[in-house]
Amino acid sequence: MDHFQYKNGELYAENIALSKIAQEVGTPFYVYSQATLERHYQVFADAVKDIDATICFAVKANSNISVIKALSDLGAGADVVSVGEMKRALKAGVPADKIVYSGVGKSRSELKAAVETGIRQINVESEEELAVLNEVAQEMGARMPIVLRVNPDVDAKTHAKISTGKSGNKFGIDWKRAVEVYQRASNMAGVEPKGLACHIGSQLTDLEPFRAAFRRMKEMVSELRGLGLDVSRVDLGGGLGIPYDEGDTPLPVEYGKLVVEELGDLDVEFEFEPGRMIVGNAGILVSEVIYVKEGLSKTFAIIDAAMNDLMRPSLYDAYHAIVPVIEADAEEAKQLYDVVGPICETGDTFAKDRLLNKLKTGDLIAFRTAGAYGATMSNTYNSRSLIPELMVKGEEYAIIRRRLDIEEQMDLEALASWQD
Ligand SMILES: *Cc1c(COP(=O)(O)O)cnc(C)c1O
Repeated sequence: MDHFQYKNGELYAENIALSKIAQEVGTPFYVYSQATLERHYQVFADAVKDIDATICFAVKANSNISVIKALSDLGAGADVVSVGEMKRALKAGVPADKIVYSGVGKSRSELKAAVETGIRQINVESEEELAVLNEVAQEMGARMPIVLRVNPDVDAKTHAKISTGKSGNKFGIDWKRAVEVYQRASNMAGVEPKGLACHIGSQLTDLEPFRAAFRRMKEMVSELRGLGLDVSRVDLGGGLGIPYDEGDTPLPVEYGKLVVEELGDLDVEFEFEPGRMIVGNAGILVSEVIYVKEGLSKTFAIIDAAMNDLMRPSLYDAYHAIVPVIEADAEEAKQLYDVVGPICETGDTFAKDRLLNKLKTGDLIAFRTAGAYGATMSNTYNSRSLIPELMVKGEEYAIIRRRLDIEEQMDLEALASWQD
């Protein structure tokens, strides 16, 4: 359920017609619904209400400070994967003690910044990182709370590029070594092991891989405790899939039940890192049709958004529902389109052979479910502008990232001193 619905034949974001925003701001743009964001956070919070849980929003899904702030106001913490994201979370008002820091390649200076800030914990992903962190923290006279991110070697059954919990993936410490590493960490002066973490992938549409990972986590916690080691936190990552089309995805409440069923008696503080589940359906991308080009074998709808604005289709063959902003007559015949952007790459294709209502120059369309991994992955390829992001609340909207145009981009560049 989201707040992008048709009213009187027009697509609205909450109580504002998208055509009005398009007229005032220009296309393409991202727009988020604050009510939808809040609702999804609440649904997740309700799903885990029976256990001691800290919900750390995975900032990489949508790192706009206004989005983070909306969630932080509801009590969310943040899962960050860079110092940049940590700074965003702090700026948006997330307390340091609700920030967890994941990622396989944290540099010495990033580790230092995290220790200095006094965040809740660092999720350590390798023995090499552990050694460096131990050193850094000792130099600073600190003892940094950590959890070990474990690679549980389970198949998340998701797209290969977003699977992270198989032994061949770069993430986490192999589960077979984790107990030994934890034991070593507990003897280090610069770190304080608090528990374990896992995150097996993104857009999981089946709960069974979670179950397999949870069981492995439980075994490891028992083993550690058997060795007399303290385990007070278990971070279960994110990864819950959402419906991009008609397909079924597990409900957060079922996920919550699974956690209770498998790990409810563990006597730890749980941490969750949902990203997509919170913001995915809370955002859409609005674009205008530039040309409808009749090819020999295809009809191309060429639109003013491109792969640089929304990479998911070209990167992961991801599906996004495409809907008209002005509702079409139900009787009207539909047609097959390849929906493409203006970029000089064949990969700049959003949809192939998609059955849509007739399109013409100037029509507005919306990509649904574009709130996660949309704006955060956008770039300026082909010297295109970074497009605006907007937040809607009721009848109001705000520009929460303005357009970054070519003049400002060129301002970052300079000729070399020997060129005149
Ligand atoms: C990306 C990521 C998440 C969020 O994943 P979603 O599928 O968006 O829920 C959580 N934790 C870690 C460590 C991640 O890298």
